[in-house]
Amino acid sequence: MNLIDRITQFHADMRAIRRDIHAHPELCYQEARTADVVAQKLTEWGIPITRGLGKTGVVGTIKAGSSGKTVGLRADMDALPLQEHNTFAHRSTHDGKMHACGHDGHTTMLLAAAKYLSETRNFDGTVHVIFQPAEEGGAGAKAMMADGLFEKFPCDAVFGMHNWPGSKVGTFGVTAGPMMASSNEFEITITGKGAHAAMPHNGIDPVMVAVAIAQNLQTLVTRNKRPIDTAVLSITQIHAGDAYNIIPNEAVLRGTVRTFSGEVLDLIQTGMERIVEHSAKALGASAHLRFKRNYPPTINHKRETEFAIAVMQDVVGVDNVRTAIDPTMGSEDFAFMLEEKPGCYFFIGNGDGEHRELGHGMGPCMLHNPSYDFNDDLIPIGATVWVRMAEAYLPV
Ligand SMILES: [Zn+2]
Ligand SMILES: [Zn+2]
Repeated sequence: MNLIDRITQFHADMRAIRRDIHAHPELCYQEARTADVVAQKLTEWGIPITRGLGKTGVVGTIKAGSSGKTVGLRADMDALPLQEHNTFAHRSTHDGKMHACGHDGHTTMLLAAAKYLSETRNFDGTVHVIFQPAEEGGAGAKAMMADGLFEKFPCDAVFGMHNWPGSKVGTFGVTAGPMMASSNEFEITITGKGAHAAMPHNGIDPVMVAVAIAQNLQTLVTRNKRPIDTAVLSITQIHAGDAYNIIPNEAVLRGTVRTFSGEVLDLIQTGMERIVEHSAKALGASAHLRFKRNYPPTINHKRETEFAIAVMQDVVGVDNVRTAIDPTMGSEDFAFMLEEKPGCYFFIGNGDGEHRELGHGMGPCMLHNPSYDFNDDLIPIGATVWVRMAEAYLPV
């Protein structure tokens, strides 16, 4: 591995920062302390900062030379509402909150890169290091953009990195095109007519309507979209009634839809409206669909992905970069940035959990798991890739 020596020299300092952030997790838009740590470190290293974009977001700006070229490197700062099972020294000190997605590590890798870029300034242009809030469902990227992120800090391209448990340390994975899915939620409210369960002819049973809708909706995935397009429609909740002998008035279904394209999403949403309305009508009931689009699909741009691959290969070797991984049906709010700017989002292997210190929880080291911990060995690897990416994008 071609790690930058200087970054490996201050690895221990960065590990201490990462563990401090891990011990003090903060949820969506509450990242006040984390933002303080980021702002204080960047300032200490001579990097001018701007705070308050997307409430708690921080942007550091590092300039060198005279070129007008710019690049944005982005990390997320928020934690999850989860009780940590680990008992090692840097475990969460905030009850019910935990850095179980490794955003503590993402923040630290970008801090390490910023420190080195500020010390060396071996590039020609401007690097914006973007620390965003609320990736976990709060659309913090979108909030920073709404506050003028790309107007105040123009970026010719943006890059984002996420750790990936189960992939070896020292490896990367990426693909051009769809990398993660769009994430959308829905709620269907069915109105029937309550009755004595022994006299169903006096009512309109919303439970039968719920069952019909649940079945019919799956035809959107199997019969309406093209077989080569990807989509998932999962009903995750069915609620109706609370007695053995009463037909309820109402039933509610909730669930999620995932797709890799806006066109397929449009098709499914329109189809859901049709099926919900007419399935209910056919059985004498009425139904209403509420559909909420949360995150769009994360689509990597071809040219920037090829650029990112070349940088990663220089750092860890050609064999350690998987360049056409399967996309995942998870979602990611960096998608909003990629809708406006060319760029690439990629995975850095986090190992399978053996790095965890004594006292880790019994579970696997997977994202969103209470026994997860970010692997500190990644700090110099991720930071080196960030630095080399900035330097290659803004060549002297
Ligand atoms: Zn997450
Ligand atoms: Zn995450």
